Amino acid sequence: MEHENNSYLSFTQTVDRAAELLGLERSAYEFVKYPERELIVSIPVEMDDGTVAIYKGYRVQHSSLLGPYKGGVRFHESVNHDEMKALAGVMTLKCALANLPFGGAKGGVTVDPSKLSKNELKRLTRRYTAMILPIIGPDEDIPAPDINTNEEIMGWIMDTYSMMRGHAVPGIVTGKPQQLGGSLVRTEATGRGVSYILQETLKRLKLEDERCTAAVLGFGKVGREVAHRLFEEGIRVVALGDATGAVRSGKGLNIPAITAHVESGRKICDYQEVGTEHITNDELIASECTILIPCATSDRIHAGNAESVKAQIVIEGGNAQITSEADVILEKKECMVIPDLVATLGGVIVSYFERVQNVQSLMWDEFEINRMLKSIILKAYDEVWEVSRKNAVPMRMGAYLIALERVCTAKRIRGIFP
Ligand code: GLU
Repeated sequence: MEHENNSYLSFTQTVDRAAELLGLERSAYEFVKYPERELIVSIPVEMDDGTVAIYKGYRVQHSSLLGPYKGGVRFHESVNHDEMKALAGVMTLKCALANLPFGGAKGGVTVDPSKLSKNELKRLTRRYTAMILPIIGPDEDIPAPDINTNEEIMGWIMDTYSMMRGHAVPGIVTGKPQQLGGSLVRTEATGRGVSYILQETLKRLKLEDERCTAAVLGFGKVGREVAHRLFEEGIRVVALGDATGAVRSGKGLNIPAITAHVESGRKICDYQEVGTEHITNDELIASECTILIPCATSDRIHAGNAESVKAQIVIEGGNAQITSEADVILEKKECMVIPDLVATLGGVIVSYFERVQNVQSLMWDEFEINRMLKSIILKAYDEVWEVSRKNAVPMRMGAYLIALERVCTAKRIRGIFP
């Protein structure tokens, strides 16, 4: 790869800078740079043709200071140990920022799931679950969906865990199917949170919806929900892309038609419509638009393409989309960056709702969930906005200042065992 994956380095460097601004002693914050526990597993999977393939899997538990470890499981070719460490740390800080009673974790398997049959994917998921089973649990570590994992996969994890325990344990995962105790809105939650943040930003900057244009990179659970909501709200999506390629249209893309095209099993790079041209992902990043929303795998905006960004606002709709070098470049260009710590909070907030509903046997409706989601995410955003203004730092640093301070205070109060 031309630009090496450095999200763990970005994470630790940002923690160091935030600690310096907070005036924290090394001993008061250094623990945040290291995960508490890391498990690497090799997962043998019997393929449909009878051969056996071995995949590498991870579960990194960053912090259990404020509650059970919490974080998604991703299935992607780019999954690696350092990225898992960074994303687990980001989860700890995200939960602290939203005041959720969780720690942080991340899991994943290095695999391209599009190359597996449904049965191979199921066997991979079950074996991965069995191998991380000693360290997960409904009060210990609660996995959730992430890139290329969905409610069906969460259902398989729940079943595997329950079979090994001898009784049903719905609370082992969040993001499970509703029939097993999943919450409404969980699938759309991260994208919905991004769109609340976007609306609030336009309001604060006094930008009118009709004049704004957006470019969205990534068309998974988050990108789809974001593009759909932008379209509904009358904000033109002028560029949209995923790993297969991207499309552009100055008058605004037909999002429902592209969604139908992709949902029928076809690729964005094969989408045809008069007035819509094909572009590369780097051209998408360099699009003339008001808001750029990357919601894909890590490190999409890096030192090699940050200079080309023309958007006034970048919203990190996926975790770790921007490297620290790119952050510096965007800051110099006076581009406003709304960081993952706050922008992607929707997913874990609704995971928290799912846990509360499971524990208390509650069933909240969509209206109630949207209302509470909006209230929690906008409160976190407002705090980040204020702290970054007060300290004259970009919002990423503002978010780290708040979250790091909370985590370090909790550590100080709890003390070091023994
Ligand atoms: N994978 C999501 C994230 O990165 C959600 C995690 C969760 O719900 O636990 O925020």
